[in-house]
Amino acid sequence: MEDMASSENGIIRVGVIGGGQLARMMVPPAIHLGLRISVLAETEGMSAARAADAVGDYREPETVYAFADTVDVVTFDHEHVPQPILRELEARGVAVHPRPEALLYAQDKILMRRRLAELGVPVPVWATVSDEAELQAFIEANGGRAVVKTARGGYDGKGVRVVSQADEVRDWFTALAEDGRGGHLLAEELVDFVRELSQLVARRPGGVGSAEMRTWPVVETIQEGGVCAEVLAPAPVADPATLEEAARIGRTIAEGVGVTGVLAVEMFETRDGRVLVNELAMRPHNSGHFSIEGSVTSQFEQHLRAVADLPLGDTSMTAPAAVMVNVLGGPAEGPMPVRYASVLAAHPRAKIHSYDKLPRPGRKVGHVTVTGEDLAEVRAEARAAAEMFR
Ligand code: ADP
Repeated sequence: MEDMASSENGIIRVGVIGGGQLARMMVPPAIHLGLRISVLAETEGMSAARAADAVGDYREPETVYAFADTVDVVTFDHEHVPQPILRELEARGVAVHPRPEALLYAQDKILMRRRLAELGVPVPVWATVSDEAELQAFIEANGGRAVVKTARGGYDGKGVRVVSQADEVRDWFTALAEDGRGGHLLAEELVDFVRELSQLVARRPGGVGSAEMRTWPVVETIQEGGVCAEVLAPAPVADPATLEEAARIGRTIAEGVGVTGVLAVEMFETRDGRVLVNELAMRPHNSGHFSIEGSVTSQFEQHLRAVADLPLGDTSMTAPAAVMVNVLGGPAEGPMPVRYASVLAAHPRAKIHSYDKLPRPGRKVGHVTVTGEDLAEVRAEARAAAEMFR
């Protein structure tokens, strides 16, 4: 980057590790705020390539240290940077947000379950299992079925299986045994939920007296085949107590774990009215994309403010309803722009976001958001517009 400004003249340089669409969507608010943003992308062709002044492997310590030398604060587009590299960055005096000891709970589902239990946060019934016999006992004690998860490396439903027999995850046990580090799988009850919710929270270390936190209205997330397909904001939850409980849980975790930046807490609303935490992400999250148009302050802007320790923005909605629909797969004949003329003409209210990714079955290549007065109406329009890209 030419004319690289330094924090000495007040311009904060934020470095994002990971070059996917989340890093890409941090770029416009960084420009508006006058922050310098740079991205360590894995390859030239990645979604955030427009901003990627560094290309390299986040698992290579020297690559990450050299990138960190060019910025004032390091943050992330994903949670896969190994802990030893993160800890060494801190040892070298680099500001890393979220901090490694917080990010740990987004990297490992077993450590996350343990920490949430310590914080008294309601979670599904769970156990760690190290072999088929232990898993079979868990299945029998929990109504004949279980959700089994690998502790690390899963995303978009990869690493999650619903089973009724322990041998359905024999390959995972075999991989653990070959790995030789005494790892476990996570077994959970199959939760009978009415909907899935996501509570977004932002937290920054500074603030008057204590760390400043902001919550967005809780949203409903709708998955297809383990992948987020739609987000409804605010969640059409019947009981206001559910909204309060979701916000309380979000704040408890953000504070208890010491998150800096955006935290997404994925939750189940059970048929009997409880809220149980499923998953944590410590970065902007798919469930918060609606906030680009639907909130006074988007999750991407807020994440930047938080990691730069700047005062947080208003999280109220700009309209009574916002619906985000993912474009999964994409047009057969090429990237999303090949259909722009027809989609933009048919849906002038819809806001189209292309991630500059090539179509591939099931791949998140973009999203569409519509805001307005009536949830059902904006949902229908967002769906119709997104459908035109498939
Ligand atoms: P990933 O990290 O791959 O997104 P998650 O743990 O979030 O994996 O699970 C993916 C999806 O699987 C969830 O959104 C939910 O639909 C379903 N799921 C996960 N855990 C449970 C559970 N204990 N009971 C019922 N459904 C579950």
